[in-house]
Amino acid sequence: MLKSEYLQRVYTQVIKRDPDQKEFLQAVLEVLESLDAIVEAHSEYEANGVIESFVEPERIITFRVPWTDDQGQVHVNRGYRIQFNSAIGPYKGGLRFHPSVNLSILKFLGFEQVLKNSLTGLPIGGAKGGSDFDPKGKSDREVMRFCQSFMTELYRHIGQFTDVPAGDIGVGGREIGYLYGQYRRLRNTSEAGVLTGKGLAYGGSLARTEATGYGLCYLTQEMLKCMKNDSFSGKTVVVSGSGNVAIFACQKATELGGKVVAMSDSNGYIHDPKGIQLDVVKDIKLGHRGRIKEYAERVPGSTYTDGFRGIWTIPCDIALPCATQNEIDQEAAENIVKGGAMAVAEGANMPTLPEAIQIFQKAGMLFAPAKAANAGGVATSALEMSQNSMRYGWTFQEVDAKLQQIMVNIFHNIYNASVECGVTGDLVVGANIAGFKKVVEAMMAQGLV
Ligand code: NDP
Repeated sequence: MLKSEYLQRVYTQVIKRDPDQKEFLQAVLEVLESLDAIVEAHSEYEANGVIESFVEPERIITFRVPWTDDQGQVHVNRGYRIQFNSAIGPYKGGLRFHPSVNLSILKFLGFEQVLKNSLTGLPIGGAKGGSDFDPKGKSDREVMRFCQSFMTELYRHIGQFTDVPAGDIGVGGREIGYLYGQYRRLRNTSEAGVLTGKGLAYGGSLARTEATGYGLCYLTQEMLKCMKNDSFSGKTVVVSGSGNVAIFACQKATELGGKVVAMSDSNGYIHDPKGIQLDVVKDIKLGHRGRIKEYAERVPGSTYTDGFRGIWTIPCDIALPCATQNEIDQEAAENIVKGGAMAVAEGANMPTLPEAIQIFQKAGMLFAPAKAANAGGVATSALEMSQNSMRYGWTFQEVDAKLQQIMVNIFHNIYNASVECGVTGDLVVGANIAGFKKVVEAMMAQGLV
């Protein structure tokens, strides 16, 4: 519950404006609860309407996306771009193509992105976008026609100095390629810095594909070292999801000495007590966009179970939720605690419900929130933009070393913020406050509030 009257008033107004946006309200409340620790000491926030501006996107764009399927039938989806905050740099954030996409989910993701991008220490504002289009089961040609139609409207709102989209759920290298190709046709320019996550042949960065999963493990490793004098070595790890973030989290956790024993997709989960064979997962998911169930058919000794939430009944030392929002509810959290876990680090955005976070914190576990733990993806996107501006490419090792340093810096920044606020080790509060302070300083210095 919010203590500050000012924050209570702001939150009431947010609810009144958008009572049905449950994911957005959840994200705003979590951040405002953290700001309770500092707002009393900053009367200028209320006098300048700072928090009111902070929770309201600068601009919301919605548009019609008509496209034709392989049978010649026309379909119409809805496209969105939420340009949330540009105080510290061009709007930056991914595009999500998934049937569940709506304004609430994109506003929550855009809001979180503002804080996350601030934590990277790089000059990028926050945005998010996407469509309720479902790429699953569509042919490459159908996905291409959809992406071209989507960009035919989006191109007028973006640019390397204005707004730089990237991938997210349902938007990987294939989609970014089609989107970028259409942007170049419409603009008649090679403006590589307008999109990130591009292929290596046309302006992409080495290590961008791996960055979110790798970065998650780098931050987790630093958290284990500094807060528990421990590491991944010898630990049992459960990773939910089997998409971009999950696959490379599994790879890095294994390289750092952990044993990943379970992964999932939206249908169910696999359990392999000997340790997941990542080449098999990659072949299924990246090779032919198959279902995770296939793993159990191919690897003796492993099992498949229907229902993705069941993955959290498998005991582990470290839990890395990397699928989607709100996948760890109270029951899942209790199972994770029962299984003896020492740490949870969020690879997905807001995978843990607030009541589940409380369960982890009460149990004395380490908890790294998404806006810090998965910031490696967007940080490396910003490195891709730097390379595009220089017209020069760094080696994999150079980008990976910068990513590692950024994640270590983020951990110390949020940990120190938690100490300064008198809640040592509460990285939720630390991340919210460290991210917020920089954005607000930039907003005030530029007269934006
Ligand atoms: P992908 O589309 O590559 O993979 C998503 C994975 O999550 C798939 O295994 C998918 O299974 C599963 N999934 C999706 N929706 C659900 C659902 N409703 N229930 C259960 N499982 C589900 O996406 P990413 O790996 O890129 O993204 C995963 C998460 O990480 C998202 O929250 C995203 O916002 C976040 N993130 C991603 C970044 C990136 O660089 N890609 C950067 C920062 C955060 P299925 O195949 O069955 O749909």
